[in-house]
Amino acid sequence: MNAQQLSVRLMKVAEYVQAGAVVADIGSDHAYLPCYLLHNGTASRAVAGEIVKGPYESAKKQVREEGLESKITVRLAPGLEAVEPADGITAVTIAGMGGSLIASILEEGKGRLQGVERLILQPNVHAKAIRQWAAQNGWHIAAEDILKEKGKIYEILVLEPGAEEVQLDAKQLLFGPELLKQQTDIFKEKWQREATQWRAIAERLENAQQTEDIRTRREQLLEKIALMEEVFADENS
Ligand code: SAM
Repeated sequence: MNAQQLSVRLMKVAEYVQAGAVVADIGSDHAYLPCYLLHNGTASRAVAGEIVKGPYESAKKQVREEGLESKITVRLAPGLEAVEPADGITAVTIAGMGGSLIASILEEGKGRLQGVERLILQPNVHAKAIRQWAAQNGWHIAAEDILKEKGKIYEILVLEPGAEEVQLDAKQLLFGPELLKQQTDIFKEKWQREATQWRAIAERLENAQQTEDIRTRREQLLEKIALMEEVFADENS
């Protein structure tokens, strides 16, 4: 992967960035995504934010080597602290982290999202945390995507500001309202894999000493398995 040839995963994230956007890529270790977006003409300017010194230096080096220093500002900062009001950011990308971390970055930095038209988020796990944050913070899910690369399955969530609080039911929160509608083969594969793991864990918990915590964890797993069975039963009916 490099700034000309992104991974399939980052390429899909790039596809959702609106033309002419001013992009903030948070957690931008090599700044590949913002460099690509500048090179292909999608973005007009960008900020690459990194919390760790080493990856920040790599991002700076990449931007310099690509000759994009006048278009991409690289900042060493946690989350959305990399964004300043004068940047005029219209799209935020956060990819390759857990959903809970992405949701906490959005929660801590929500005061810096004014003027942002679109959030393009690619959680490696626990996308539900992002959907919960979106529903509670006036962002609606404009699109969702799912893809497989090198055996791993990734979800992408595209959020846009909504006028009011959005209600998502338990199924929509876990599986994604748009992904549920599409029910692609990759979606089915993802949840079949998850269900196999859940069933194995639930069985181990059933055979473990029954503390309050063990009982709760098993019940939560059984609830998720039941939801999944409902989704696939709906689809087969
Ligand atoms: N976004 C790239 C991608 O999808 O390929 C890099 C993903 S890499 C696994 C995650 C990067 O996010 C790391 O470089 C890490 O240092 C950075 N990171 C983690 N937490 C962060 C935070 N709160 N603020 C900014 N960067 C963060």
